[in-house]
Amino acid sequence: ATFGTLSDRLTQTFKNLRTKGKLTPADVDGTVREIRRALLDADVALEVVKEFTGKVRERALSDEVNKALNPAQQVVQIVNEELVAILGGQQRKLEFAKKPPTVIMLAGLQGAGKTTLAGKLAKWLKKEGHTPLLVASDLQRPNAVTQLQVVGEQAGVPVFAPEPGNGVGDPVKVAKNGVAEAERKQYDVVIVDTAGRLGIDAELMKQAANIRKAVDPDEVLFVVDALTGQDAVNTARAFQEGVDFTGVVLTKLDGDSRGGAALSVTSITGRPIIFASVGEGLDDFEPFHPDRMASRILDLGDILTLIEQAQQAFDEEEALKVAEKFRTDSFTLDDFLGQMQQLKKMGSLKGMLGMLPGARGMREQLDNFDEREITRTEAIIQSMTPAERQNTKLLNGSRRLRIAKGSGMTVTDVNQLVARFEQAAKMMKTVAKGGVPQVPGMGPI
Ligand code: GDP
Repeated sequence: ATFGTLSDRLTQTFKNLRTKGKLTPADVDGTVREIRRALLDADVALEVVKEFTGKVRERALSDEVNKALNPAQQVVQIVNEELVAILGGQQRKLEFAKKPPTVIMLAGLQGAGKTTLAGKLAKWLKKEGHTPLLVASDLQRPNAVTQLQVVGEQAGVPVFAPEPGNGVGDPVKVAKNGVAEAERKQYDVVIVDTAGRLGIDAELMKQAANIRKAVDPDEVLFVVDALTGQDAVNTARAFQEGVDFTGVVLTKLDGDSRGGAALSVTSITGRPIIFASVGEGLDDFEPFHPDRMASRILDLGDILTLIEQAQQAFDEEEALKVAEKFRTDSFTLDDFLGQMQQLKKMGSLKGMLGMLPGARGMREQLDNFDEREITRTEAIIQSMTPAERQNTKLLNGSRRLRIAKGSGMTVTDVNQLVARFEQAAKMMKTVAKGGVPQVPGMGPI
């Protein structure tokens, strides 16, 4: 996962400090050296690494250190604060025009994930109560317009695309007409998708700059693929010079990037990261929070994001009903199935588990976790009769065999599921009664 290695190395560095009673200058130097190596190996730009480690060193040696904390805690605290700082400090929210429509222009290389992002952003804006319009100004890539129409449909957001005779081949004109259309039909946000090239080229920059001039966007979002490592920084510089932008969107943060782009781009350009894209699905998208990202890197967990996602996915009334069922011991396999389907809505379960504090230590389990498990569980439960779902005690050997056959699983799979269900019901009953469940290896959460 992104930051995996960096995270492991930083936490290891801190662990090495844990046994020390006092932080000597030699400890600080050793630690800073390790942090420096870890950052460089994670593809963080050299100048950012230098500034970062310089600050950490200075602070760790100064009198400011909190004597109430042990050496490892002191260093974690300083590193955390400095990470938040290079990630931009405060969360920067999308800015809207005082007088709609707000115009958001997307720029970046081909393949960075602009078109996908346009769909994600449109869907998110819609959820936030806006009425967005997508504008297809990428006329370079043969099927870019169609692709935008597809994501637009998925997001339930209309797409303005060039019609024959109406600006075909002229992306600037399409962008202008798109904004005019939004004014006419009172869409309050316009998202302009623009063309990218495989590499930086002068013509591309000029086109993007011309679109910018023509539609005077409130936000120009530079979309950059986190997997491109050091190159991301060079691309960012080129786009800043050629088009300039007001904010950054990091894409493919779900992939195996080493994270350097994320940690460099704001320091290098002075522009904040506003969103992060974490998968191919339209919901794999989140506003960027520097503090949460820093805690993820340092494995302090990202409880806030987790809670927000849970709140979005779970219907509160439904949740209360379920809690009541737990309390009264009437939670059934049908409810269990419903819960799983809710979980699926929460996006990648693996990503979610990765946000829990200490999750790095559970890496192996996470890597072995298979989301298809949910699908298999569904198959098994759906092969049961309503009565069996209500009462697992009915499940004798021959019924289990029938269910296994019906779902294409083995009897062992069925047995495991039933055992897991019974255990979960028991655990949740404790929670519903105000107890705290223990997750193995993590303590209470
Ligand atoms: P564009 O050329 O900039 O418009 O890029 P696209 O939107 O066509 O995206 C290029 C590829 O990257 C597509 O296959 C997308 O599905 C994929 N992609 C986009 N964003 C993400 C992301 O956050 N994570 C992953 N894993 N893939 C992504």
